[in-house]
Amino acid sequence: MKRTYFENIRAGIVSTVVGLSLTVRHLWAARRRRSELYVTDPNYFAQDTGMVTLTYPHEQLPLPDNARYQLHNEMDDCIVCDKCAKICPVDCIDIEPIRSSEEIGKASDGSSIRLYAAKFDIDMAKCCFCGLCTTVCPTECLTMTHEYDFSSFDVGEMLFPFANLTAAQATEKRALWDQYQLEKEAFKRNELAKPAASPPADAPAPPVADAPAKRPVFRPGIKPKT
Ligand code: SF4
Ligand code: SF4
Repeated sequence: MKRTYFENIRAGIVSTVVGLSLTVRHLWAARRRRSELYVTDPNYFAQDTGMVTLTYPHEQLPLPDNARYQLHNEMDDCIVCDKCAKICPVDCIDIEPIRSSEEIGKASDGSSIRLYAAKFDIDMAKCCFCGLCTTVCPTECLTMTHEYDFSSFDVGEMLFPFANLTAAQATEKRALWDQYQLEKEAFKRNELAKPAASPPADAPAPPVADAPAKRPVFRPGIKPKT
């Protein structure tokens, strides 16, 4: 339908007034904020008015309990089993274990700790937040925290070290393990070098094992001529 010149002017004015009234209505509603509800809350979609912008980082949206963000390792409970590093699909966990000749502690679940961690680095720049490492961890010391704002201008700062040994302590523990290995080898050599002890004269003769039954010898028969 073709409008006249004055009908166009009228439609323009009506459209402007409707648009402005919407703007004013939202400005009025923006005097108050929407409450911070997580998306699973039944009232989440009931809040159709109110200000939504958060003044981050002073305000943050609530996070679900199973949110996957920065990893944390509680080293006192880590048994340095390497399972997390093995299952990581992007190889962002780097562990250097040092063996110990004896138990060095117990994790809070009672697991025995027999390895030191000279290095336990997690490169969060590579991590794809799959959570597999936290699933396989036998002592549940590796967890995903709610910390998600760890951005940095330097990618090197994304490497999070968790090892609780200093370089000097690691060198000392390595030397202790090497020393233990040398002593073990020397002990083995001494044991092998000792002459075998001869049995006393009045000792009963060892029982003679039954001779093994003779196996029948296979003799192929002569193939009948056809
Ligand atoms: S969350 Fe996934 S990618 Fe990140 S360290 Fe664990 S296993 Fe590797
Ligand atoms: S799986 Fe757990 S206990 Fe094993 S090395 Fe990784 S963090 Fe430590």
